[in-house]
Parts: sequence; structure tokens; C-alpha cells
Amino acid sequence: MEPGHAHAPVLQGLWESVRGGQEEMLRAPHLAASCAFLTHVLLCAPFLALDALGGVCARVHSWRIAAGSGPPPPPRRWWECFCRVLFRYVTAVLPAMALLQLLRSPQVPELAPSCWRLCVELVACFLVFDTFFFIWHYFLHRVPWLYRNVHQAHHQHRVPFALAAQDASSAELLSLLLLALSSAWVLGCHPLSESLFHLLNCWLAVEDHCGYNLPWALHRLLPCMGGAPHHQAHHNQQSANFAPYFTHWDHLFGTYRAKVQRSPSD
Ligand SMILES: [Zn+2]
Ligand SMILES: [Zn+2]
Repeated sequence: MEPGHAHAPVLQGLWESVRGGQEEMLRAPHLAASCAFLTHVLLCAPFLALDALGGVCARVHSWRIAAGSGPPPPPRRWWECFCRVLFRYVTAVLPAMALLQLLRSPQVPELAPSCWRLCVELVACFLVFDTFFFIWHYFLHRVPWLYRNVHQAHHQHRVPFALAAQDASSAELLSLLLLALSSAWVLGCHPLSESLFHLLNCWLAVEDHCGYNLPWALHRLLPCMGGAPHHQAHHNQQSANFAPYFTHWDHLFGTYRAKVQRSPSD
């Protein structure tokens, strides 16, 4: 269905505001990176609250991924992680995104996509991104130089927490940005689908690292997704679970591990 056949006024209204935002960003290229950083921090905020509650509320503590999780990270770790992510955004992501904004001349259609097109493009974006990420992540672990210089910084967290989703080297943050942009680009997505993809991608990355197996988490509804237990097992074992969201590539390549292993120190 063509974008002109959108029958959802809600989507059209949403698109009008995103369009306004996009025009602002074209005028002020640093806005895109600032919004990305703020979005990441805001999406992490509920998990900071859960970590704070985890010490006093048994129910919250019972949601922590059992083996190897230990107590929630203290506020000092959150603060140190916040400073590192902010530093890398200011020194690498912000200049790169500003440059990309200047180089890209996005076509901004007047009409929102139909609901059907939006959903299909979102699912397709995630499947393509998951594939790109799986391949790149596999090589990040298999090529020692890449691991040391690009990926090791992210693996300082054997037990991750929400903010650690973007606690990675500048090179890795830039590579993930490129993978996300290319996923939407190869599919020729409507800019509204692309914007929602980036937002949901940020949310899913935060959820992957949150350290909780929440009763309402998406992977409980969709068994094809691995969720936080899947990615925490990757941080724990490193030789498994290379895909970020879905589990089919790890099943196909024999790198799927269901559980976090308990270490003697846990
Ligand atoms: Zn991770
Ligand atoms: Zn890794």
C-alpha cells in the first residue's frame, strides 16, 4: 500500500510532529545525537528505579536473572557509566551524527505510512539489523584485534545493567549506529518507520542489558526473541548468543545458550 493511503489520523499526527523535529534537526545537526543520548538515559531511568528498589523489595529482587546476577549495581557504577557514555557521545557520536545529517538529504514525504506498512517495515528493520549485528558481533569476538580495540570495553560488564547498553568504545558505538542506519536504508523505509525503529532499538538494547527477567518483557510474549536472559548469557560466556534480539541465527550456527552460567565467585 502506498503511503498516501494511510487511514490512521494518529499516525498522520505523529508524522507531522516527527517531520517538524526532523526539520529542526537539519537546522541544528547536534540535536539528533543529543536526542539519542537523552532517549537512552530516559529509557534507562525505570531500571535505575528497579535497581534502587531491588535492595528493599523481595518481589523486584526475584525478577533479577538468577544465576550470576548478584545484587543490583550501586549508584556509583551507574554514575561512572553515565560519564563514560556522555563522553563518547560528545567526542564521537555527536560529531558523526552531525556530519551524517549534513551529508544526508532526506526525502520528507507529506503523508504518514499506513499502519500495515509501518508494522511490516518495523519488523523487517529489526530482522535486518539483527542479521547485521549477528555477523559483526561474531567477528568482534573471533578476531582478537577487533575484540581488544573495539568490543572489549563493552564486556567490562560481566553482569550488565541498563545504562551499559551503550557503554562501549567510540568505534563500537559508531559501528552500531551505521548498522542501524543501513538496516533502514536497505529497506527504503518511510522516515516515520525509521524513527520508530531507532527508538524501539534503543529500548530493546536497554532491556537486553537490564539484568531483569521481567514478567511483562517482550521475549515472554514472543519466544523467537531472547531478551535479557539471552544477552546476559552472552556477557557471561562470550562465546554464545551473538544476535541481539532474535534467537534464530544462534540456533542455526550452534551458538545458542539458554542459561547464564554460575561462576564460583557469584
Ligand atoms: Zn551487551
Ligand atoms: Zn560481545
